[in-house]
Amino acid sequence: MWDALWIDVNLATMVGTVPYGALPDGVIAAANGKIAWLGPRAALPGAPEALARQVQRCAGGWLTPGLVDCHTHLVFAGHRARDFEMRLNGADRAAVLAAGGGIPHTVRATREANEESLLADALQRVDALRREGVTTVEVKSGYGLDRDTELRQLRVARAVAKARPVRIVPTFLGAHGVGPEYQGRPDDYIDFLIRDVLPAAVRDGLVEAVDAGLESNCFTGPQVERLFAAAKAHGLPVKAHTDQYGDFGGGGIVARAGGLSADHLEYASDASLRAMAEAGAVALLLPGANFTLRETRMPNVALMRALGVPMALGSNCNPGSSPTTSLLLMLNMACTMFGLTTEEALAGVTRNAAKALGREREVGTLEVGKAADFALWDIDTPAELAYWLGRNRLRSAVFGGAPVAL
Ligand SMILES: [Zn+2]
Repeated sequence: MWDALWIDVNLATMVGTVPYGALPDGVIAAANGKIAWLGPRAALPGAPEALARQVQRCAGGWLTPGLVDCHTHLVFAGHRARDFEMRLNGADRAAVLAAGGGIPHTVRATREANEESLLADALQRVDALRREGVTTVEVKSGYGLDRDTELRQLRVARAVAKARPVRIVPTFLGAHGVGPEYQGRPDDYIDFLIRDVLPAAVRDGLVEAVDAGLESNCFTGPQVERLFAAAKAHGLPVKAHTDQYGDFGGGGIVARAGGLSADHLEYASDASLRAMAEAGAVALLLPGANFTLRETRMPNVALMRALGVPMALGSNCNPGSSPTTSLLLMLNMACTMFGLTTEEALAGVTRNAAKALGREREVGTLEVGKAADFALWDIDTPAELAYWLGRNRLRSAVFGGAPVAL
C-alpha cells in the first residue's frame, strides 16, 4: 500500500529520450517520502483506491520534479535599492561605493544582523521560491567575510531547512571577496579561510560544498586552487563564480579540480568548456545577473550544447546583481537572452540543477527511489513554464510525498 498516488495528470519526468521525459496521462505514487512507482495509467496494477491510502485526482495539468534553485545568496541583510536608484540617476560605481553602497554595504549590514532577523528575511525569500514549486535550494555564505558572520549565515541556512519543507544545500563562499580586514592581502585572507573559518564550518556540520570568486576583482587561479585543495582535504566538492567579467580560465580550473559547476561563464574560453565537458562539470548560467548588469556578452550556449556540457540555471538571488526570488523568470530569461530551448531551461532547474549540487541521486527527476518532491502546474505544455514572463502557474507542491502549504 502506497502512502499517496497522483492520477489524471501528465508527468514531465525529465529523463529518457522523449521531450521533457513526458508521460501523458501518467500516475505517480509515493511511499515513505520517496517515489515508489510511476508509469502510464494503463499500467497501474489495480484500482487507485486499492493501491494508496490517498488518491489525488488532478484533473489535468502537468507534474514536474520539484524545482531546484542551485545558486542563491539567500541569507543577507537589507537590500541595495539605493544603489539601483543612484545608478539610474547617473552615479557610477565609485560614487555608489563612496556613498556606502555596493557589496561592502551588504557585508556591514549582514555582520550587524542577528540570526533571528537574518532568518526572518531568508524565510520570506525561500517562501517566494517555494510558491514557484522550488523544493531544493542551494544557499551560500559570503556576506560576512569574517569567521563569525560566515558561520552565522550557514547556521541560518540550516535553520531555514528546519522551518520550512525545503531541502537546503549549504555552500561556504567565504571567498566571495577579500574581507575588509585583509584588503590588499588576498593570500592572507585565503590562509585565514583555510585555517580558521572552513574547519569551523566543517566541524559544525554547516557546509556541503566550497565556492570561490575566480575573477579579476576576487581571487587568482592559484589562490582558488589552494582553497579547493583545503576543501578536498575536508571531503567537500568545489565550484566557482567565474569567467563573468573576462576569461580567467575558471571553467578549466573547476574542471581540473573535479568541481561540480562553474557559474556565470559569459567569457569562458572554448578550451574551458571542452575541459568542463570532459570532466562532466555543470555550466551554471545566471541570466538574472546578466540582465541586471546589462551585460551584452552571452554564455556560449551553442558550444556547451555541442560539447554536451550540462546546463543548469539559478536565480542567483542576491541584493546586488540579481535581486530576484523568481526562478521561473530565469527560465524565461535563459530562453530569450541565452537561447536555451524550453526543455533545456526546465532541465536546468531540475535534472542538471540537481547534478550541479551533487544531489542527482536524490532529486531533479521523476524516478523510482528519488524524493517525492513535485510541482503541479496549471499548464497545457511544459513549455509554458519558460514562456510566461512573470506569471506563475503553480497549483500545488509536494515535499517528501506530502502536500505543502504555500
Ligand atoms: Zn552568485
